[in-house]
Amino acid sequence: MDDISFLYSLIRNIPDFPQPGIQFKDITPILADPKGFRTSIDLFVAKCRESNVQKIVGIDARGFLFGAAAAYALGVGFIPVRKAGKLPFTRLSHSYTLEYGSNVIEMHDDAILPGERVALIDDLLATGGTAGAACKLVAQLGGIVVEAIFLIELTALNGHEQLPGVPVTTFLKY
Ligand code: AMP
Repeated sequence: MDDISFLYSLIRNIPDFPQPGIQFKDITPILADPKGFRTSIDLFVAKCRESNVQKIVGIDARGFLFGAAAAYALGVGFIPVRKAGKLPFTRLSHSYTLEYGSNVIEMHDDAILPGERVALIDDLLATGGTAGAACKLVAQLGGIVVEAIFLIELTALNGHEQLPGVPVTTFLKY
């Protein structure tokens, strides 16, 4: 079995979680499998190497798991983008609309230096609202998002549209 087929085999589909109509893609079997976890991190790392990434921004919460491991492997810094109210230092905020209501994400205001080449990492690209907001935070500090990389993409939701001008890579497509 090739690497991508192997990773597909480790995704667990949970119908109607956390609410009716949502097919939740559970990535915990990938994390729990030594070969699965390493294979997934290697994919992120290879993509970052192509673009000379200087910092990784990981999105709360599963983006931390993939992003931090990739940053360690690359020897670059890791920056968490968090849900509102979690970061202790001075920070930037961005709110974005969800299907019902809105959400706020935050990043420390000293996290990125002007001109830094950043890869944005999360487990899954759905509507792109979260990743689009994270890109805006990076841009506000003068960083350049040179890659947005997701293990999984829900293609019907056209999340790419929220990331104009950013090269998007997704490995498992549904
Ligand atoms: P979005 O902002 O719509 O692109 O949503 C992306 C964020 O929500 C990511 O941080 C995902 O972890 C999470 N997410 C959205 N939909 C799903 C899903 N079907 N299964 C697992 N996680 C999801």
